[in-house]
Amino acid sequence: MLPMRRTSKSKVRTRRSHQALKAVNYTLCPKCSQSILPHTACNNCGYVNPNLTLKLGKEETD
Ligand SMILES: [Zn+2]
Repeated sequence: MLPMRRTSKSKVRTRRSHQALKAVNYTLCPKCSQSILPHTACNNCGYVNPNLTLKLGKEETD
């Protein structure tokens, strides 16, 4: 079975008008000004918010 009608250029282009990728939203860490994702801990210094900073230790593989 084949489709009854070929999809027009306009239909294809209208459908694909929603497929564009959005830019990832980055913010800057207030302590070390590295780019971080919002609501996550900083990878560089572990800063989360003024009351919470994670201690980043190097993972040891023994
Ligand atoms: Zn940081």
